[in-house]
Amino acid sequence: MAVRSTADVVVIGHGLTGAVVARTLRDAGVEVLIVDGGTQFSARPATHLRNLAVCRTDRALYADLVAALLRPVSVPPAQRVVGGATVPGMPDGRGVNRAQRPDRALPAARATATLGGMSTLWNCLAPRPNPDLEWWPGLAVAEWTRLFERAEDLLAVGADLSAASRRHAYVLKTLGEQGLIARHIPVAGRATDDGIRWTGPAEVVGDAPIPLRRCVIRRLIRSGERITGVQAIDLPSGEVGTISADVFVVAAGPLRTPALLHASNVVRDNANLGRYLCDHPLAHTQVLLDPDLREDGPGVFVETPRTADRPFHGVLLSDGHDSAVLEGGVDDRLLVSLYWYCALAPRYDNRVVFHGGASDSLGSPQPTLEYALDASDRAITAAALADLRAAAAPLGPTLPVGPPRLTSPGTSQHIMGTTRMGADDRDSVVDDRGRVWGTRNLYLAGTGLIRGATAANPTLTACALAVRTAESIARPAHTT
Ligand SMILES: Cc1cc2nc3c(=O)[nH]c(=O)nc-3n(C[C@H](O)[C@H](O)[C@H](O)COP(=O)(O)OP(=O)(O)OC[C@H]3O[C@@H](n4cnc5c(N)ncnc54)[C@H](O)[C@@H]3O)c2cc1C
Repeated sequence: MAVRSTADVVVIGHGLTGAVVARTLRDAGVEVLIVDGGTQFSARPATHLRNLAVCRTDRALYADLVAALLRPVSVPPAQRVVGGATVPGMPDGRGVNRAQRPDRALPAARATATLGGMSTLWNCLAPRPNPDLEWWPGLAVAEWTRLFERAEDLLAVGADLSAASRRHAYVLKTLGEQGLIARHIPVAGRATDDGIRWTGPAEVVGDAPIPLRRCVIRRLIRSGERITGVQAIDLPSGEVGTISADVFVVAAGPLRTPALLHASNVVRDNANLGRYLCDHPLAHTQVLLDPDLREDGPGVFVETPRTADRPFHGVLLSDGHDSAVLEGGVDDRLLVSLYWYCALAPRYDNRVVFHGGASDSLGSPQPTLEYALDASDRAITAAALADLRAAAAPLGPTLPVGPPRLTSPGTSQHIMGTTRMGADDRDSVVDDRGRVWGTRNLYLAGTGLIRGATAANPTLTACALAVRTAESIARPAHTT
């Protein structure tokens, strides 16, 4: 392993936000090295797995692959009684966590050890948040607008993939008749002669590759206000070494980014690391459309955006993969899933902490979640469930396997806030350019920077902030 890299900037994490940072820097003429410790599942590193030929031809296989690659983040070990005797639970590590209290967990929250992370598995829904309710006022409206435009460009957001779909038109019309705002939800993907090319990190980087090193980063090394290097385990060889650079960007996901900072003890004076953990409680149901609407193609991509009196964001998709559950009794092209994401106010007490010696599947410190809803949150989730039920009823019968319900906490996979951005180190971890308070050359990217309370799918916002971070690194005044 090289002891010193020649890159100006090292980006830790080849998910979408790491790719946006790296691509923006490369386009500005900065020499970048991406490092990632995930397992490579595609010939082209970090392509969206939906682009694999086998997933294009078999949608159920793709759904099973996603489910298999997502592992629990933190669940208490099950204590089982068998034949009158208590069988000891699983040992700590890889998602099982003796310190995790069941009543404070996000049992459905998942992590992956895939090269490219969640960004190779995401549903590519990339709506802008509501500008009046969800754009952090610490950035000017014109700046947010510019950043969203740039992120949409990098993620290839915009094509109306369902323009010719009768199912899509039916859902839009039926929701509109109920007085709901219903529109096409922006999707990250390009229409090609071979079908849609979904946007993952590889698609953001584009055809001119950026150097990628397959390493797990164990620790950042700090000297005064600067990070001088990272301790890395080279994946092919297992050798341990140090990578040096002028600037470091950690884009390792909303739980592994604070885990790496915790393991490195580099923000010991900031009590906000891991705090303000937020997610989107989710109401869900599945309906069956009229058989006359059977057709091939992408199908339904619809949103009913959050408004002042509806603090939730509705998404309707043709993503019914439950044909196994239905034992082939239903044509899955007629299934429409409804997802109502709730906006929660971020709270200091909701957090991720790291203690004990156990580690997850990437070797990161095992997270323990402390998360609870209060009465006002529960009022929002109850309102979302009622709204979902009313929206679903005219579309078609709900399936016995998908009645309207609140899903298990963490199902949305939208963890935010754990490394939040702010104007002041008293309530945040990074400044408005993503730089860690008290450091000169350590930056973060990802949904952890989002301050909440948003209801829109968060990845486009994280990518917009990643553009700003990369631009400020490219301007030397911010890196010294
Ligand atoms: C099934 C599913 C569907 C989703 N759909 C949507 C959607 O439609 N819209 C939306 O907005 N969001 C969606 N999300 C959430 C979305 O996937 C994430 O918000 C987004 O991918 C996060 O990107 P990221 O770059 O911050 O992190 P990631 O994509 O998770 O990338 C982090 C990378 O860091 C690497 N890494 C971590 N720790 C280390 C270390 N110590 N050393 C080296 N490398 C490390 C990992 O291997 C990984 O490659 C979905 C999530 C899932 C699971």
